[in-house]
Amino acid sequence: MVDLSRRRLFRRNTGNSDNLSLPWIKNAESFTDNCTRCGLCVDKCQTKIIVNGDGGFPSIDFTKDECTFCYQCAEACPEGLFLSKEEPPWQAKAKIEANCLAINNVECRSCSDMCDAMAIGFSFQVGKVAQPEINLDECTGCGACVASCPTSSINVSNL
Ligand code: SF4
Ligand code: SF4
Ligand code: SF4
Repeated sequence: MVDLSRRRLFRRNTGNSDNLSLPWIKNAESFTDNCTRCGLCVDKCQTKIIVNGDGGFPSIDFTKDECTFCYQCAEACPEGLFLSKEEPPWQAKAKIEANCLAINNVECRSCSDMCDAMAIGFSFQVGKVAQPEINLDECTGCGACVASCPTSSINVSNL
């Protein structure tokens, strides 16, 4: 039997803290029961962020690039595992972890430069460099900020 908690311990950081499944997945809980691991979504992904994750099931790796919400993974899937394009792709949001440079008082704003949704703001606090803050209403969970972070301090997960 595969010890998933142990595997998680040694997994390379993908900027995806809860093994986020693909956008528009109908049912994340039953995904591994129904996905045949055919790899068609992996081949079709516009930005090549779909990788073979735990057990060979497709998973997102935001260290490679962002999700453009192109819907090609969904279109490629022969198993009917995706919602229609009119539905929201997911509830995923970015989260900044405690090892962020700015939180540790080192000037850095790389993540906000990458955010097309302008969801990352910086606020001034006495005695500190400007501190990042993610506006969860604006964040699309695209993951564009993840690869830009020099300290791998951003994870995207379903809230
Ligand atoms: S929506 Fe497009 S970019 Fe996002 S995971 Fe699917 S194929 Fe890749
Ligand atoms: S996940 Fe996308 S929208 Fe959210 S903060 Fe990062 S770059 Fe902005
Ligand atoms: S890029 Fe990373 S280290 Fe820099 S402010 Fe954003 S989260 Fe912090």
